[in-house]
Amino acid sequence: MSKVLQDLIKQLGIVVFRLADDQTLESVSSYPEWLIHLSKAADSPISVDDTFLSFDQIGHSFPFLSNFLIDAELFWSNEREHDKTDSGVWTEVDALGQEYQLEARALFAENEKILLIENVSQNFEERHLVYQKARDMALLNEKLISELNFRQRKLQSDIERHLSLRNPIDELNRTVESNTSAVLVCLPDGDVELYNKALINIYEIGNDQKIVRASMLDKWIAEAEHNHPEIHRILKSGSYWEGEFETFDADNNQKWIRLSIGPVKNDAGEICHFVCVANDLSDFRKVSDDWGNISDYDFNTHLPNRRQFWKHISQTCESGQKSDEVIALMYVDLDYFKHINDQHGQFAGDFLLGTMASRLSRNIKHGDYIAHLGGDEFVILLRYIKEPEDLVAVGERLLVTVSEPINLDGTPIRVSASIGIATTEISQTDPHSLLRNADLAMYSAKELGRGQVRLYTEELERNPPKRSQREHELLVAIEKQQFVLEFQPQVCMQESRGKRVEALVRWQHPEHGLLSPAEFVGIAEESGSIVPIGDWVLMSACVSGKLLVDSGDSTCVAVNISAKQLSHPEFYNKLTNVLRKSGFPATHLEIEITESSFLSDMDKAIDVLHRVRALGIQVALDDFGSGFSSLNYLKRLPVDYIKIDRSFIHDLPDDNESRAITTSVIHLAHQLNMKVIAEGVENKQQLEFLREHDVDFVQGFYYFKPMPLAKLTSLKSENW
Ligand code: C2E
Ligand code: CA
Ligand code: CA
Repeated sequence: MSKVLQDLIKQLGIVVFRLADDQTLESVSSYPEWLIHLSKAADSPISVDDTFLSFDQIGHSFPFLSNFLIDAELFWSNEREHDKTDSGVWTEVDALGQEYQLEARALFAENEKILLIENVSQNFEERHLVYQKARDMALLNEKLISELNFRQRKLQSDIERHLSLRNPIDELNRTVESNTSAVLVCLPDGDVELYNKALINIYEIGNDQKIVRASMLDKWIAEAEHNHPEIHRILKSGSYWEGEFETFDADNNQKWIRLSIGPVKNDAGEICHFVCVANDLSDFRKVSDDWGNISDYDFNTHLPNRRQFWKHISQTCESGQKSDEVIALMYVDLDYFKHINDQHGQFAGDFLLGTMASRLSRNIKHGDYIAHLGGDEFVILLRYIKEPEDLVAVGERLLVTVSEPINLDGTPIRVSASIGIATTEISQTDPHSLLRNADLAMYSAKELGRGQVRLYTEELERNPPKRSQREHELLVAIEKQQFVLEFQPQVCMQESRGKRVEALVRWQHPEHGLLSPAEFVGIAEESGSIVPIGDWVLMSACVSGKLLVDSGDSTCVAVNISAKQLSHPEFYNKLTNVLRKSGFPATHLEIEITESSFLSDMDKAIDVLHRVRALGIQVALDDFGSGFSSLNYLKRLPVDYIKIDRSFIHDLPDDNESRAITTSVIHLAHQLNMKVIAEGVENKQQLEFLREHDVDFVQGFYYFKPMPLAKLTSLKSENW
């Protein structure tokens, strides 16, 4: 080889071998220092004089390279002269811990089979630095976008508040006129009430062109629906929507905007205005686009974003169609996220989203795909699913992990989620239908009371579940905490064993006044909102109980627990949490359950009750006799008290059947070491009969009606 070439190879610091025979390489130039240095750790290190190296010798110094030599041999034997194959960058560490990035290449030169090894460390570091800088800038860009979003949301709620307070629209004009966000306020079915200069700027609208609703809001919806098929459903239901999409100005220039649309409702609950706020994100997006993959990820949750999701789902659906494989799409939406965000602030909101993202990711199988669509929405793509029940089981597992407590500004809170699932088996197979249908199923889960999993069916399309006015009001009542408790004393028939009360919930309705449980507990049970209502009742009853204990009036408080609450996977944790937070002693708490708690899974219910009793809490079986009551299974149930249903007491002492049932229940309960409470005692005859037959406690209007806490504390203690 010419001297010039030798010198050049030396200066480049590369190693060039030619294949001498099957298993031997011949060096065509002297070795660079790094190679000698790196090989020192091997049992037969390479020396400057070793012109010939066996594959084995190379393998001892560079195990990675010996693997590549197998590929290289394959390549050389195919004689593809104008091609080359490379190893990709790998890292070696010398005895001093110094890292080297190396890359090997197999190629042909003048019919010779050549192996070239390059030290790319320096290059690598530079590339790494550039990458890091790009990431920093991308982060900065994303931070700017998120600040912009924050301002946009604030402006949106300011305008909505202004309108819902019936303030004159002219006043608004002054505030939004020079705002950098584009603002459009319009009536539900037509005229534009207000818009600002920023809107004109984005769309390059000439002064003579009038903005009408048909040309703006409808245009936006049409443009957004491509990537946000759920937008129609959300707006129709009168909810807030926000998202990013491509839009076109008057000259057909493409732009990228972020739009939020919020309906404002009047007192009758009808939509009276749409408030739209938009920001032009084109410049930000252009910058992100230049960075390629970096802009495919959400910077808060580190999950793929909506943009990446569309790429991925399109590929998945395509390959699924070819292979006839069923693909399932799960739409996960957190419940009451906006509420939490407003209450705890944006940082807490971001933290919550990040935490939920990692909980969800940890609970799906390797190979499943999760993305963060934006806001509080996540989607998961699952493959190789056999049965729809398996999907529901996965969904339910996710609901449990979501509902584990999370610490926001020092307070542990719990959130729930609603999940909708569509599969290519039930739904159409294109990505848009799949997303739209999963969203519809998610929405019906929300309508049915949140915290649930729903599968998409065609039936949902024809008959989307619709909440009654009452159910809607109940959700508001939960958010606004419109419930109050009353307490009804239970009077002890033997020598007093301490005071006892039952806590009974009432709804302080803004229009209809104080509503009794008969008017809403049934609906709440059906829609699932009994769970959050019950959470409130439990906490509130324990806080009141603690007040009584502190005032020296140590009273046992019984709380009604519905079957849905008892079977909730978090019930036990909620109980211990409430006890800890309220400071109410567990031995003073009693839960009243009904036989319906044992209907679906008796063993599970029994197991929970055992654990509850181990805390010191007592258990009463409510409304006994009214349901499917069987005296047979009574001995299996871990309960301390039996409450004989009002209906039997009502007919005492004249009705034979009621007499027989009452006396045998008391007898059996006592044999099983349980105490008996008679409820609904209204007169002296009933009381006399019960006293005669050894009932332990009596609850009823004869003694006391349910009363507010203040009245309870003022009762003279000798009265009960
Ligand atoms: P319940 O658990 O059987 O509660 C006793 C009901 O009987 C109460 O009605 C009470 O006011 C009423 N009552 C008490 N003494 C008499 C009497 O001498 N005569 C008559 N006719 N009635 C009497 P309320 O407060 O309207 O509650 C009705 C039901 O609503 C309760 O029946 C219970 O099933 C449910 N409920 C009440 N509070 C809660 C709660 O916090 N959570 C759940 N899940 N259910 C509740
Ligand atoms: Ca009860
Ligand atoms: Ca009862």
